[in-house]
Amino acid sequence: MPPMEEYFDEVAPLWESRWLTNAGEKHRELERALAERLKVGNVSLFSNGHSALECAIEALGLGSDGRDEVVTTPYTFVSTTNAIFRKGLTPVFADVRPEDCTIDPERVEAAITPRTCAIVPVHVYGSLCDVDAIQEIADRHGLKVVYDAAHAFGVERLDPASGEWRGAASYGDASMLSFHATKVFNTVEGGAVCCAGPALKTAIEEWRNFGLEGPESDAHPGGNAKMNEFCAAMGLCNLRHLDEELAKRAAVEEHYREGLAGIPGLRLLEPQRGVKPNHAYMPAFFGEAFGADRDEVMAALAERGVGTRRYFFPCTNEAPWVGRVGIDPGDTPVARRLSREVLTLPLYADLTLEDVDMICEIVRGCAR
Ligand SMILES: *Cc1c(COP(=O)(O)O)cnc(C)c1O
Repeated sequence: MPPMEEYFDEVAPLWESRWLTNAGEKHRELERALAERLKVGNVSLFSNGHSALECAIEALGLGSDGRDEVVTTPYTFVSTTNAIFRKGLTPVFADVRPEDCTIDPERVEAAITPRTCAIVPVHVYGSLCDVDAIQEIADRHGLKVVYDAAHAFGVERLDPASGEWRGAASYGDASMLSFHATKVFNTVEGGAVCCAGPALKTAIEEWRNFGLEGPESDAHPGGNAKMNEFCAAMGLCNLRHLDEELAKRAAVEEHYREGLAGIPGLRLLEPQRGVKPNHAYMPAFFGEAFGADRDEVMAALAERGVGTRRYFFPCTNEAPWVGRVGIDPGDTPVARRLSREVLTLPLYADLTLEDVDMICEIVRGCAR
């Protein structure tokens, strides 16, 4: 959270303008600031990331030509899979790559049928998907690409074509971001869709606001997922502190990497070459050679008051409803194994390096 006084100063003008929502001053200012910061063409703000993803699916008209299958990853938060299903589409699960947990382009290719309309990959933990391979497959098969970039706020890639840093949310037809309280950047609750063209931005914003083109003309059966001024103000404040937050997170991550180095059976994700990370998460994978299993490590940390998460466990294709509604959970052994091995350790800007030492010591103590 930003300093309280700073937030109060930011929202004080709202008592004069009485403009609380519907693309007010704070909303417009945050949209502009984010487009610049994230190096994306168009940003549309939302009340949360999940609604943003559903809205991107609607605005792109996925499913409207009868093709109802969407190739996606099961190694994600439930939101991704739920959004696809709730929009009347059928998720088809493709396995992930062990090295960065993102969807495997070869498995994507194998999952495509004449009914496929889109690919919905996830930049999980802020690891960038193989965006070039995915785009090439999409182009060849006439598919849309919608990224769940909820974890990838501020991640950038040195673009091999232009030699310039390019924002992670600038790939595909659209990318969803989440500004939930637990994310690297928050607006309390909030989210965005980033897209390349102004026509798509307009469509997305109509879907966001009841499908209205004008005050009395509704073009689509849209819903309501607008960001209000108080949330936008929170975003403006948090954005001012983002660089210090990221620097502190980087130091915490580096300390973890030193403290957890060289333990047999314990794997951390390698930093990706040519990618500026956002240090959003600290996933650790406990394999056979470690000795203790993931749940034992989780229990040992909990005993000392350290909260961790099995993020992600189970995979979304293991949810009970998937089989119940007749969706094929597919064969995704890599994702399944990762979900059994993973534990995300605490990572936030104010975590002290002493606490990181303590956590590393407890983890080491669990090893064979
Ligand atoms: C947080 C998250 C979402 C949902 O975003 P909300 O803003 O909480 O609605 C979707 N996908 C992933 C991968 C997430 O981590």
